[in-house]
Amino acid sequence: MPDSLTIRSLIARAVVAPLARPLRTASGEIPAAPLLLIDVATDQGIPGRAYLFGYTKVTLRALKALTEDLAPLLVGKPCAPQDRAAECERAFRLLGRQGLLGMALSGIDMALWDALGRALGQPVATLLGGSIRALDAYDSFGLIDIKDDAKRLERALAQGFRAIKVKLGGGSLEADLKIVREVRGIVGAQTRLMVDYNQSLSAPEAIRRLQALQPYDLAWVEEPVPAEDLIGHAAVRASKLAPVQTGENWWFAADMAKAIAAGACDHAMPDIMKIGGVSGWLKAAALAETASLPVSSHIFIEASAHVLPVTPTALYLEYLDSAGAILKEPLPVIDGKVTARGSGLGMEWDEAAVAKYAA
Ligand SMILES: [Mg+2]
Repeated sequence: MPDSLTIRSLIARAVVAPLARPLRTASGEIPAAPLLLIDVATDQGIPGRAYLFGYTKVTLRALKALTEDLAPLLVGKPCAPQDRAAECERAFRLLGRQGLLGMALSGIDMALWDALGRALGQPVATLLGGSIRALDAYDSFGLIDIKDDAKRLERALAQGFRAIKVKLGGGSLEADLKIVREVRGIVGAQTRLMVDYNQSLSAPEAIRRLQALQPYDLAWVEEPVPAEDLIGHAAVRASKLAPVQTGENWWFAADMAKAIAAGACDHAMPDIMKIGGVSGWLKAAALAETASLPVSSHIFIEASAHVLPVTPTALYLEYLDSAGAILKEPLPVIDGKVTARGSGLGMEWDEAAVAKYAA
């Protein structure tokens, strides 16, 4: 390991990567993954890589410019992610770090951790004091159309998944009931079944629907109401109709602390790109442990597989492969489990695919 890994440059490239399964949600469709690939270079020749998920192509040009414009804050400084994150927090105190800036900062943090791991020849999980292990994963579906998705659900079971999530809220309660009945019919009583409303209901409507869904033994209901509506989440939780899951829209650990204080959830699912990268995730993991909240991840399977092993209350890795099309070696599912790769975060770009899907 060089004495000090020094950041030399930072570039970002936009791609729109095809998804193995296009994702339909109650709040819009994602036909392919708009990604921003971040490449940090160091004076020692060791790269650091990470990617952002832009949700929509509309974000990509701005995200690329914003991410690259952060380079002057980093270049010439040690690759010390916690130090750089603290500096950036101070630098943007007046602006605030929500939104695209928070995504860019989180992505840079991940890329710096990746570089550190590569420099030491260690996986990030090991660098954090944990070890790589096979993590229980759940297969994450969008809005289901049973005639298209029955075979995919059966395939998930054949891959060893013992937990499956589907999205609801695309239509009426009757439509939700039909989906859950059909999915339960395929996956059987032994599979844990979660549902995700993607923020599409009011609290009273969520409670009405969950009452009707009682026979189907839901392991959690995710974001039943708008993410920022902590009182609404708490009201759904108080109904005790299903454990409430939320967190993919928390901006940094401070948002998570507010949700915990509001009694908004029974589970937590920070998104590593919104919670502050690896450095932010560590704070979230500590909050979750002190609040006894089981933690599952949100997309970003490669990086999440490194931080879940050092998350004391880790439950599931969400298996939703958004970057597999541009990686040399996508992470496989083996017997329903996903295992991190390293050194670093273990991602190598497939440059031919990056060129093909450039946006
Ligand atoms: Mg969700």
